Amino acid sequence: MRWSMRLGRVAGIELRVHATFALILAYFGFVAWTRSGALADVLAAVATILLLFLCVLLHEYGHALTARRYGIGTRDITLLPIGGVAMLERMPRDPRQEIVVALAGPAVNLVIAAVLAIALALGIGRTGGLVGTLLAANLMLAAFNLLPAFPMDGGRVLRALLAMRLERLRATRIAVRIGQALALGLGVAGFFGNPFLVLIGVFVWFGARAELGATLRLEARRARRAAAT
Ligand code: ZN
Repeated sequence: MRWSMRLGRVAGIELRVHATFALILAYFGFVAWTRSGALADVLAAVATILLLFLCVLLHEYGHALTARRYGIGTRDITLLPIGGVAMLERMPRDPRQEIVVALAGPAVNLVIAAVLAIALALGIGRTGGLVGTLLAANLMLAAFNLLPAFPMDGGRVLRALLAMRLERLRATRIAVRIGQALALGLGVAGFFGNPFLVLIGVFVWFGARAELGATLRLEARRARRAAAT
């Protein structure tokens, strides 16, 4: 990915961060600075964002390390301001394996949320403090990624469930259509309330379309290879 730099290798996978990620840190640091002017608050804001993205990273490692169990490697994991991307060499074709790999990411966030909830119950941290913020963020990460729409993990689960009964391409088409209907719903709902939802709707719409294109190319290549042998 362009404009990304290498951070190192963790668990045998190259870890990269996109240059625009620095903008997010600068933005939240700046907001904290204008609010209080205290360096401690700026550092706390930056630390919160870094911990948040650590959770995003662990989510991606959930996908990558589960895929490895099925013999699928991961080229790299890149951290972007909108989240993380694990570049798996391929997705498993076996729907059962695809479901396990797709669910592994959100499962990581649910485990983190459970640990943080236990910490809160034991009196470690406050609801409005760092622990509470990270707990809420992990629940949101899990819920958002489980939306049954490409390019979210939930879209993959939906496609895999459909592919158990239907041909893979047809399953993808149906999953893409459901994802786009959801994107439209988010966009319309956001138009009357939250502009952020409109953005997510647009992202989901084009992400779903990209997934259909990728599957079409993959299936065409497989058909050519089958015809050649
Ligand atoms: Zn994921």
